[in-house]
Amino acid sequence: MTAFRQASYDEPPIFSMGSPGRTGTSEVWVGGGTDGMPKVALPREVAREGIRLPEVSQVEVVRHYTRLSQMTWGIDTGPYPLGSCTMKYNPKVNEDLASMDTVQQIHPLQGLDGIQGALSLMYRLERALSALTGMSKFTLQPAAGANGELTGCLMMRKHFEIIGKPRPEMIVPDSAHGTNPASAAMAGFRVVEVPTGEDGCVDVEALKGAVSGATAGFMMTNPNTLGIFEGRVMEIAGIVHDAGGLMYYDGANFQGILGRARPGDLGFDIAHLNLHKTFSTPHGGGGPGAGPVGVAKGLEGLLPVPTVERDGGEGGERYRLEWCRLESIGKVRAWYGSFPVLVRAYAYLLSMGAEGLRASSGLAVLNTNYFASRIAGIRGFDVPYGGRRRKHEVVVSAERLAAETGIGAGDVAKALIDMGLHPPTVYFPLIVKEALMFEFADSETKEAVDSYVEALKRVSEEAYSNPSGISAAPRNAAIGRLDEVRANHPKTMRLSHRHPQR
Ligand SMILES: *Cc1c(COP(=O)(O)O)cnc(C)c1O
Repeated sequence: MTAFRQASYDEPPIFSMGSPGRTGTSEVWVGGGTDGMPKVALPREVAREGIRLPEVSQVEVVRHYTRLSQMTWGIDTGPYPLGSCTMKYNPKVNEDLASMDTVQQIHPLQGLDGIQGALSLMYRLERALSALTGMSKFTLQPAAGANGELTGCLMMRKHFEIIGKPRPEMIVPDSAHGTNPASAAMAGFRVVEVPTGEDGCVDVEALKGAVSGATAGFMMTNPNTLGIFEGRVMEIAGIVHDAGGLMYYDGANFQGILGRARPGDLGFDIAHLNLHKTFSTPHGGGGPGAGPVGVAKGLEGLLPVPTVERDGGEGGERYRLEWCRLESIGKVRAWYGSFPVLVRAYAYLLSMGAEGLRASSGLAVLNTNYFASRIAGIRGFDVPYGGRRRKHEVVVSAERLAAETGIGAGDVAKALIDMGLHPPTVYFPLIVKEALMFEFADSETKEAVDSYVEALKRVSEEAYSNPSGISAAPRNAAIGRLDEVRANHPKTMRLSHRHPQR
């Protein structure tokens, strides 16, 4: 791997830079100049006053953000093995397409005649996602996975209201992503948790005990957050369906079965996909993303409005937005979705093709199992829940390392930063102590995976010989250890500039 040492600047927040009256744009004149030279005219009604923006020159802005960009890490800098996040390489052609004027300058209030191309893309993407998942119909509106979950939970609630039998409970496994119980609670459900069995899968006996006439649904991630495929999913769907409940598929891990298994065939009634995970789009900085939600046959009426519909056949087709859906839960987001993200996903689908998508999950699974098999021999690290094959991600536990050396998962992550590697997800899922969750996307090379194995070996050796060295990491990064309490509290959020706080 390329040796990496993060650039380091004592960069202040932009609000504390500049000086009063300094500006980054040319003076804008209303009307013509006195010297005969033409002046750019800005209509008075668009001028705004009293907004407190940083007063900085253009070059100050450019330098500020360039320096920040050198102090950060992205998928274009190196591997980004954040488990659960599917940080795959995003082909640049997708960016070119999403940056086209016809994408960037389109306005949601344009007339239908002017947006036929955009609607056609949305329609085709919706059909492709339905084909890939085995669902009947999708909404492209939700902004991300969590927004999709809320959409799905609201549709479940409405479904039971419509049939006149409201149900108050949502069952969620203890391995679930935190957004699952949060979304269920926001939609008004009481959350019932079921434990994970010794095989790393949902404890089916416990599930049987939890399911009742009060159960609206069961939210399931498959492969689950341990990276293990829930092999009893169809039996579970039977249990939930027999009680009159619905099955919700958290598709954040769809990468693990992409092109090989379809949630619709596994018994799921409602499913979201994270387009920014499985179907490209750079993410990690807070969005925008897209979390389309698909429903099984019979539930299409619940989908948010509007949906994109096609009239007429190929060649003479015309697309429109359908607002009139009596059973719809309404809108879950302004307008029609994160359009540039939809463009990237569609471009990705077209460039990969059915075979390419299938190959993508195969490579992700191969990378992860290769990594898992090499981790087994490293002192202090274990792969909990037996030696079963993983799908696209694997959770490693540093519990033994922590007990024997005092170096926990968080310290391991900081040590990796000093070796020029982006750490994995840490302390998730909650059911694994000292969890380090690795996901090596399809686009990562064997050399990239090997570099993590070698780095973890070094961390292990150092932990057993000189643990104090690691507890001072990272030393090679722009910023040392944050005070995690202050970092998470909006009122006291302050970076500990390069000075490690221990
Ligand atoms: C990422 C993720 C989510 C939430 O998706 P967002 O797009 O971040 O809102 C839900 N479940 C799992 C398993 C995830 O990894």
